[in-house]
Amino acid sequence: MNIQLQRGQQYDSQAQRGGQGQGGTQNQQAQQNQTAATPPISSSSSVWDKFEKGDKIGEGTYGLVYHARSKETGGRYAIKQFKGGREGDGVSPTAIREIMLLREMRHPNIVKLESAYINRSEPSLWLAFEYAEYDLYEMIKFHRDHKENTRDNPFGLMPQYIVKTVMWHLLNGLSYMHQHWVVHRDLKPSNVLVMGEDPAVAPHQHGCVKIADFGLARIFQSPARPLSDNGVVVTIWYRAPELLLGARHYTRAVDVWAAGCIFAELLTLKPLFQGQERKTPGNVFQADQLDKIFRVLGHPSIKNWPELEVLPHWVENTDNVRVKRPEWSGTGLHTAVLEAMRGAAPSWAQGHVPQECVPPREAIDLMHRMLDFNPSTRTTAEECLRHEWFRQEPKPGPNVFRLPGASTPLVRYPRRPMSLDRVPAGLPGAAGAGGGPGDGGGGGGLPPPPGPPGGGRAGGGPGGPGGGMRGSSQAAAMLAQSGPQGKRRRMENVPGFR
Ligand code: AMP
Repeated sequence: MNIQLQRGQQYDSQAQRGGQGQGGTQNQQAQQNQTAATPPISSSSSVWDKFEKGDKIGEGTYGLVYHARSKETGGRYAIKQFKGGREGDGVSPTAIREIMLLREMRHPNIVKLESAYINRSEPSLWLAFEYAEYDLYEMIKFHRDHKENTRDNPFGLMPQYIVKTVMWHLLNGLSYMHQHWVVHRDLKPSNVLVMGEDPAVAPHQHGCVKIADFGLARIFQSPARPLSDNGVVVTIWYRAPELLLGARHYTRAVDVWAAGCIFAELLTLKPLFQGQERKTPGNVFQADQLDKIFRVLGHPSIKNWPELEVLPHWVENTDNVRVKRPEWSGTGLHTAVLEAMRGAAPSWAQGHVPQECVPPREAIDLMHRMLDFNPSTRTTAEECLRHEWFRQEPKPGPNVFRLPGASTPLVRYPRRPMSLDRVPAGLPGAAGAGGGPGDGGGGGGLPPPPGPPGGGRAGGGPGGPGGGMRGSSQAAAMLAQSGPQGKRRRMENVPGFR
C-alpha cells in the first residue's frame, strides 16, 4: 500500500517538474474509472444482438477477435469469441480463467473486460473488451517497413519518448498484476495494446498502454510452488532462460524477462533473441533459443546463478548446454542493441542512430537488470519503475504518441484497416468518429498511478492443469456470481484455481 502511495506521489511530482498541471484531476478521473463495477455476465442473448460485427482483427491461441460497435451506444469494442472446450462439449477452461482474472483486476494499463456473453445452447462464450487501436507488434512493424517515410515516421526508429512511455505503462501494469499474484506468462508485442486518439475514447485514455490476453495467465502464491504445466507457455522468443532449462516454478520474473525482450525490440525493431523453435510436441528443449541468448549475454555460471545446478536440462546436459562454446562469450547487450539499431536506421541517418532515438547508458542498464539470468536477482517490475532512466528527460508521459502539451504526434502510426469505421447516424459516437494519432486531439493529463489493490487478491492458489469446465450452464452459474464476497468462492470453484 505504501509503495502504491509513493508511486502516486512520483507521478504528481513528475507533473510538477514537467509543468503538466492537470495531473491530479486526470488521476482522480482514472481512479474512478478503475473502481468501476464488475463487468456483467449475460447468459440470455447472443452477443450479436448487442453488437454490430465488424472485421476479424486477430486470432489468439484460443479464439477469434472481432471489431464491433455497440448497437446501443455506437462505442467500439473488441469481441473475443472462444472456441469450445477441448472435447467440444463445454466452455474452454482458458476462457473461464481469463474472465476470472480480468474481473478481479482493475488498472489503467490492463485491458478492461466490459462484459461477457454466454450462450447455453451452443455452448459458446464471447468477451467484450474496450477497443485498442494499436498494438506494439504493428507499431514496431510500421517503423521497420516505413523507415524512409519521413512525414509519418520522422526519426525512422522509435523515439526515446515513445519507448520510455510504453515501458513505463507496461511496467506499471505488470507491477499491479504481480502485486495481485497474477503472472501473465505470454507477454509479447502483439499482447501489448495501445489506445487510439479517437474522439470517442476518453482523453485520459489516449495513447494508454494495455496488457491483454490473459489466456495463459495464472495465479501463484509466494513462496512459489510448482505450477503444473499444461504445455505451451510463452512464445519462445520471450521465454525466460529458467523455463528453457526446464524450471517448473513460475515466478513473476518470467514476465520481467519478456518485458526486457520487448524493451530491446522497441529499440531495434527486431526480436532480441530470435531462436528457431523446435515444434516437437511436449516440453521439448529449445536449444537454438538458448544459443541466441548465450551469444549476447554469455554462458551462465553456477557462480552467478546457483539454482542452475537443479534445472533439469542443465543437470542432464541436454545438447551439451553446460559446455561453453567460443561463440557463447557474449557480445554484450549494449553492443548487440546498438549494432541492431544502426542496422535498422533509415538510409538518411548514414549508419548512425538518429539523436532522438539513442538509448542512454541508463536504458541499457535497466534492460540488463531485466535480462538477468538468475530469476532471484532479476529486477522486479516494481524496482524497474524506480530506475534512474525514468527520471531522465524525456520523462514518460500519459500518452505514448505525443509529448505532453504537443499538438502533433511524434509518429503517425496507421490505424487498423477496418470495416465499421463509420458510426451509424444518430448514435452517440457518430460525430467526429475517426482520427488516429495523426489527427486526434491533445492527450491530456498524466497516466494514473496504479490503483490501490482494489480488486483484492485474486484468491485461490496456483493454477493447475485446466481440469475443464464442462457444460455451459455450470459455467454460466459460476460466472453469474458476483460481488466481493463471492470472489474467493468463485475462484476455488473453478477447475485450475485450486
Ligand atoms: P488475443 O487472443 O487476446 O491474443 O488477441 C489476438 C489479437 O487480437 C491481438 O494480438 C490483438 O491484435 C487483437 N486484440 C485483442 N484484444 C484487443 C482489443 N481489446 N482491442 C483491439 N485489438 C485486440
